[in-house]
Amino acid sequence: MAHIKIKRDKCKGCMLCIKVCPKGQLKEDSVLNKKGIKPVVFLGQDCTGCTFCGVICPDTAIEVYK
Ligand code: SF4
Ligand code: SF4
Repeated sequence: MAHIKIKRDKCKGCMLCIKVCPKGQLKEDSVLNKKGIKPVVFLGQDCTGCTFCGVICPDTAIEVYK
């Protein structure tokens, strides 16, 4: 099953990945990362491996595995 890995300390919280995910698999975390912002977390239930999130991330914080 497709899944992603998020490097939470690289994430700057721009939320672009949340907007492009067609399956609603990403959401803002409630815990701060090392940058002092709330990064994105993966819900992990219905990822298709479309790679939209990984492609749009300006900080290469997301890796997609099919
Ligand atoms: S690979 Fe596609 S479906 Fe999976 S989390 Fe990223 S945008 Fe969503
Ligand atoms: S697109 Fe990248 S930097 Fe922006 S919120 Fe998503 S993982 Fe974080």
